[in-house]
Amino acid sequence: MIPFLDLNQINAPFQEAIEQATLRVLRSGWYILGKELSSFEKSFASYCEAAHCIGVANGLDAITLILKAFDFPTGSELIVPANTYIASVLPVSYLGLTPVLVEPDPVTMLLNPALVEERITPNTRAIITVDLYGRSCEMDAIMDIAERHRLKVITDAAQAHGAIYKGKKVGNIADATAFSFYPTKNLGALGDAGAITTSDDTLAEKITFLRNYGSKERYKNEYKGANSRLDEIHAAILSVKLPHLESDNKRRRAIAQRYLDEITTEGLTLPPADKVEQDAWHLFVVRHAERAALVAHLENCGVQTNVHYPLPIHKQHAYTELAHLDLPVSEKIHREVISLPLHPMLTDEEVSVVIDAINTFSVRQKP
Ligand SMILES: *Cc1c(COP(=O)(O)O)cnc(C)c1O
Repeated sequence: MIPFLDLNQINAPFQEAIEQATLRVLRSGWYILGKELSSFEKSFASYCEAAHCIGVANGLDAITLILKAFDFPTGSELIVPANTYIASVLPVSYLGLTPVLVEPDPVTMLLNPALVEERITPNTRAIITVDLYGRSCEMDAIMDIAERHRLKVITDAAQAHGAIYKGKKVGNIADATAFSFYPTKNLGALGDAGAITTSDDTLAEKITFLRNYGSKERYKNEYKGANSRLDEIHAAILSVKLPHLESDNKRRRAIAQRYLDEITTEGLTLPPADKVEQDAWHLFVVRHAERAALVAHLENCGVQTNVHYPLPIHKQHAYTELAHLDLPVSEKIHREVISLPLHPMLTDEEVSVVIDAINTFSVRQKP
C-alpha cells in the first residue's frame, strides 16, 4: 500500500539532526521566547523575502493575530474564499467580524478575483486569500482591488511555503501572511507551530506583543493579547528542516509534472499545468464526477488517497448561519476532489504505481 502520507518517512532524513537540536534545547534550560526562535524567525523571514517573521503557536492563531492587530471595527466584513479549510474563516468569526464567502475560479479552485468586487460594501475591510493546495492566488488582481477600495490583504499560506507569484515569494505579497507548521505541511514541526510574515514594521511589532499577552515589557500589557508563542523546541526542529524546503518543493514539482504528463484517465480533471515551477504542490488535487468509485479503485490498487475537503464551510454544522448560501461551484468541488499521494519521499516507482492505478480506472467498471 502506498500511504497518502507517512510522517515517519517524511522526518527520517532529519532524525539525527532533530535529536541533536532537541537535546540542545533540553540542555539549554530555556524553552520559550529564546534564541532558537529568533534564529528561526530570521531565517524564515529571509526565506520568504519579508522584513519580519513572528513565530506563533499554530496556523489558526497566525490568522487570528493578524486580524487582531488590524483591529477592524465591529460590523466589518471580510472577503474569504468559499473553498478553503475552516481554519481560514474561524478567526473572522472569533473576532465578531462577518465572513463574506466568495466562489472560487472553477479551474484553479482559488478565490476568483472577478467575483470579489461585487461583494464589497462600505463595511468591507479586508480580503483573505488562501493559497490552497500550494498555489498562489491571482495577487495582482486582488491587490489592485484592495488598493482601490482601501482594504487590507491577508494571505493564508498554510499550504504554500515556498510558492511563488510573478517572481515574488508568498509571504512577501499581502500585507501579512499566515503560515502553519502542522506536521503534514511542506515545512512541518513535530507538533503545532505557525508564523506570520510581513514587511510592515508597525504591524510586526504589534503582533510580537499580541502573541505574548499584549506585553511590550514584562508585566506591562499594551493590548489584550494571547498566549501564542512558537516553542524553542519546535523552532530548533524547524531550523533543521527549513534548509531542505527548496529541494523538497523541487521534488514535489517533479512529481506533479509526471502526474500532469502521464495521467490520462477519462473524465478526470487535472490541476492547471501553467505554474508547475511556482506552485508549492502541498496537494495534488484531481476531480472526478465518480469520486467514490475512483477512491475505491485506487484503494484496490494499493493507493491511499484523501479528500480536501468533503464538506464546504457553509454546509458545516458549525456555520448554520451560512447554510442558506448558494455556492454551486464550491459545492461541486467538494463533491469531486481527490488528493493523490504527493510528498518529497515518494519514489519514482511509487509515482508510476499511482499513475498506472489511476489510468486503469474507467467509469464503466464501477465496483
Ligand atoms: C493547516 C491549515 C490551517 C491551520 O493551521 P493549524 O496550524 O492547523 O492551525 C489554516 N489554513 C489552511 C488552508 C490549512 O491548510
